[in-house]
Amino acid sequence: MSAPEYFFDTDLDVHSWREIAACNNRTDVSFFPMPDDLVAINEAKAVCGTCPVADECLGFALETNQPDGIWGGMTVKERAKIRRKWLEELRRAS
Ligand code: SF4
Repeated sequence: MSAPEYFFDTDLDVHSWREIAACNNRTDVSFFPMPDDLVAINEAKAVCGTCPVADECLGFALETNQPDGIWGGMTVKERAKIRRKWLEELRRAS
C-alpha cells in the first residue's frame, strides 16, 4: 500500500475545514467515544461518511498523530495501521 496522497493534499487550513465539517455543532454525537462503544463509534462514522472535509480531517489526524477520537471516519486503531505504513513509505523514500 502506498501512502495516500491526500495526506499532504490539504488545500484548506485546519480552521477553514473545521468550519464546514459535518460534525460542526453536532452535540448529539460523540466523536471521542469509548473504544468499546461500537454504537457511538458507528454513529460518529456515519456523520463522517457525509463530511465534505473527511480527507482533510483524516490527514490532519495522521500528521499530528491524534491519540483518540474518530477523525476522517477512522478510529485510533484504524489510523495507526495507515500511519505505520505511511511512515514506512517515508523511511524507504528517504
Ligand atoms: S471527518 Fe468526521 S470528525 Fe472529521 S471533520 Fe468530518 S465529521 Fe468531523
